[in-house]
Amino acid sequence: MNNRSHNFCAGPAAIPTAVLQRAQAELLNWQERGVSVMEMSHRHSSFMALTAQAEANLRQLMQIPDNYKVIFVQGGATAQFSLLPMNLLGDKTQVDFIDTGIWSTKAINAMAPYGSANVIASSKEQGYLTVPQQADLQFSANSAYVHYCPNETIGGLAFDYVPDTGDIPLVADMSSMIMSEPMDISQFGVVYAGAQKNIGPAGITLLIVREDLLGHARHDTPAVFNYQQQWKNDSMLNTPPTFAWYLASLVFEWLLENGGLEAIGEQNRAKAAALYSAIDSSSMYDNNVNRANRSIMNVTFTLADDALNGLFLEQAEAKGLLNLKGHRSVGGMRASIYNAVPMASIEALVSFMQDFEQQHGK
Ligand SMILES: *Cc1c(COP(=O)(O)O)cnc(C)c1O
Repeated sequence: MNNRSHNFCAGPAAIPTAVLQRAQAELLNWQERGVSVMEMSHRHSSFMALTAQAEANLRQLMQIPDNYKVIFVQGGATAQFSLLPMNLLGDKTQVDFIDTGIWSTKAINAMAPYGSANVIASSKEQGYLTVPQQADLQFSANSAYVHYCPNETIGGLAFDYVPDTGDIPLVADMSSMIMSEPMDISQFGVVYAGAQKNIGPAGITLLIVREDLLGHARHDTPAVFNYQQQWKNDSMLNTPPTFAWYLASLVFEWLLENGGLEAIGEQNRAKAAALYSAIDSSSMYDNNVNRANRSIMNVTFTLADDALNGLFLEQAEAKGLLNLKGHRSVGGMRASIYNAVPMASIEALVSFMQDFEQQHGK
């Protein structure tokens, strides 16, 4: 049927083959209009119908309560690091942050132009191998919101609980775990995620905002970066990335057809368990993340001898196992096993790792 590789890329990541096949089939002639979906006005009734259906499907998948607005913008999660304070601070000047790794830190650094970033808890001293516990979280009286990253993509570190922030809104960078399993959105003030891990291609960013948090933007916030303005304009204040939006809509349909987040969550847990168990039962591979905080999306591991890294990656690639190199800041290996990566890819990886250990292990 296809010659697709086993793709463990951290992002832009694998997209379901079925979605790509459908996009391919519809590419030249979308909805019998004789043009592709990316060659028509975003305000055309059939495109507007697509975005409305995409939102309805997303709401169903994630069980998004009615008092939350869904907004699609550009700029990726990195742009949101700076746009969140612009939109949410109101007359406050402080934000509380939980620091669990590189992405948390980037959000903390982006706060500098706006006021104080209070790092109220951090696992830096523990090498980012664990997350602060609820009891360690002492919130500042004046913070506009609390920001955290439930899944640190680079470290392969995940929260095993949702912080309880009382009346202070909780803001979550869900870029690398959104839609990986069911979640209770009512625990959050704002959820945001770049698309290129679990939603679709790069270029579109999802925001889920509790409605009472709209309308607090700084007066100098440009309209195109103003969440309330974007929401009022159906996320079409200017031309949106229509093709990325279309592909995201196909991914939402694919998830619904495959049992929704309940089913995908079970598959994700099974995939991660298979890979971690292969790592734990070997004497060549190692993962030091606190067990309860091991990510089910990004599985990091090291080889007993770093000198073998190059050979491991080379032989993996020859077997069609792509993009296993860890982030340049941490080294080692990382297998990103997002929704679109099937169990067959995990099995192929485990079998390769076992063969490699037999040949090169002690
Ligand atoms: C990938 C990622 C980002 C960065 O997304 P961009 O689209 O490059 O801005 C931010 N946060 C997390 C947790 C990520 O995984």
